[in-house]
Amino acid sequence: MSSEETTGPRDFIRDIVAADVAAGKNGGRVVTRFPPEPNGYLHVGHPKAISLSFRIAAEYDGTCHLRFDDTNPLAEEGEFVEAMIEDIRWLGFDWGEHLYFTSDYFDQLYEFAVELIRRGKAFVCDLSSEELAAHRGSLTEPGRNSPHRDRSVEENLDLFARMKAGEFENGDRTLRARIDMASPNLALRDPILYRVHKVPHHRTGDTWCIYPMYDFAHCLSDSIESVTHSLCTLEFADRRALYDWILDQLEVECHPQQIEFARLNVSHTILSKRRLKELVESGVVDGWDDPRMPTLSGMRRRGYPPAAIRSFAEGVGVAKRDNTIQVAQLEHAVREELNRTAPRALAVLDPLRVVLENYPEDREEELEAINSPEDPALGTRVVPFSRVLYIEREDFMEEPLRKFFRLAPGREVRLRYAYFITCTEVVKDASGEVVELRCRYDPATRGGDAPDGRKVKGTLHWVSVAHAVSAEVRLYDRLFRVEDPDEVAEGGHFTDNLNPDSLRVVTGHLEPSLATARPGDCLQFERLGYFTVDPDSKPEARVFNRTLPLRDTWAKIAKKG
Ligand code: ATP
Ligand code: MG
Repeated sequence: MSSEETTGPRDFIRDIVAADVAAGKNGGRVVTRFPPEPNGYLHVGHPKAISLSFRIAAEYDGTCHLRFDDTNPLAEEGEFVEAMIEDIRWLGFDWGEHLYFTSDYFDQLYEFAVELIRRGKAFVCDLSSEELAAHRGSLTEPGRNSPHRDRSVEENLDLFARMKAGEFENGDRTLRARIDMASPNLALRDPILYRVHKVPHHRTGDTWCIYPMYDFAHCLSDSIESVTHSLCTLEFADRRALYDWILDQLEVECHPQQIEFARLNVSHTILSKRRLKELVESGVVDGWDDPRMPTLSGMRRRGYPPAAIRSFAEGVGVAKRDNTIQVAQLEHAVREELNRTAPRALAVLDPLRVVLENYPEDREEELEAINSPEDPALGTRVVPFSRVLYIEREDFMEEPLRKFFRLAPGREVRLRYAYFITCTEVVKDASGEVVELRCRYDPATRGGDAPDGRKVKGTLHWVSVAHAVSAEVRLYDRLFRVEDPDEVAEGGHFTDNLNPDSLRVVTGHLEPSLATARPGDCLQFERLGYFTVDPDSKPEARVFNRTLPLRDTWAKIAKKG
């Protein structure tokens, strides 16, 4: 990262860290972590948390750990660990040697639990989950003590050891903290620390049949790793008291500071892993990396550059109150990045045949085209030109509307990088549909300029039919057609809000240079939008995905509204 990149914007978390470093707290060290649970794929909300923790550490030459919070073997899988590692690397962050798993601490965490029991701060409880819920009370009513709360330390140690040995079945017994059933903070009402789960774990196999709860494991894992600032989203605010209580009881050497910030919500998008999973499992989308998914792997397949996602995640700011950011802001960041970096190419997605009557049948020319007006360093390429071309069907109107400046009978337009052409005849089929245009080209306008200075109002893209390569082109659009997909009619489901036109597949006719484009390459098809080569694309069956149209077509719809 360059120094410019590491001098982030100011926010309340950076202020806290700066003050701590200035005061010499933690010996001036800064250690953060990003702690995903491997129970799904990372989504567009996560880069906010990832960037915050990695950047803040970098700003102080500190370290940021990647720790998989893998304490729930029911929901977690190795597949998700691999995918998250790939996604965070792709996003551009590096944890060096600091890759950790909460499951690596299971022995230590068990010892910490035993220590809590010894100190009279935890007990084994026999209540069922229904009974636990009934004892918990509510926001307005205090909870009730468990009948097992006053077991002796010896009995608790014995029962906990037997929980670990597998003597009890799922749900039969839990280890609970002994705090205060009357606390106004429900998180402190003797919360569960360990439960029996006779389920193999993707990393520890059958070694364990008891697993620590998030609240117990998280603060202690932070402490074991000497994390100084533990940044998380607002829903953990109530649980900070428990985080601190556990560390205080155990008198650990390192007591990290938990700081909460608002999670990122994005319009027209859902970010709950549970719902995303539902979309995948019900087949609404084609997997976690479907280009319409708000997952990092989906956005990668869609052609969103990591730099654009970073710039979006960092541009939304860090605050203490939840809000929703317009998805158009993300799309804007993607267009800005691609406008600078994506080479241009010519492609026609809805072809209309054009025959240049005065162009010799056997002639072919190689015309020079600019790869990017934004970046001269990208140079030029040649595109073949010949007598029979495709133009975009919507670039012709037999009876042009008032503000239509493109091709029409008798009208002259420019073919990009090529010649001026004039439409002389419209050929129709039996049903009256236009199937071909006969045109004349002006040889003096080679390159797209008339030496006599005459002007045309329209410039069209085109491909030479004989040279074009074809491809399946997937025109992706937003997955949801409303701002808040969770807003549904009585008895409705969020899937009611799906955009029925989120994918349209067409055959594209591409300039031949695109035959060698490789998966992941990003391009601008002139006048059409940004496109990328799908990972499944093959020379014999090319697949291009539309990243975004050139302009925000939704904004127009909203205005018309
Ligand atoms: P979900 O609730 O959908 O499963 P999660 O919050 O459980 O998502 P985790 O894997 O637990 O996902 O999240 C890892 C880290 O990313 C947490 O510290 C969490 O606070 C943060 N995070 C998750 N979603 C967002 C978001 N939308 N914006 C910012 N940070 C987020
Ligand atoms: Mg969560």
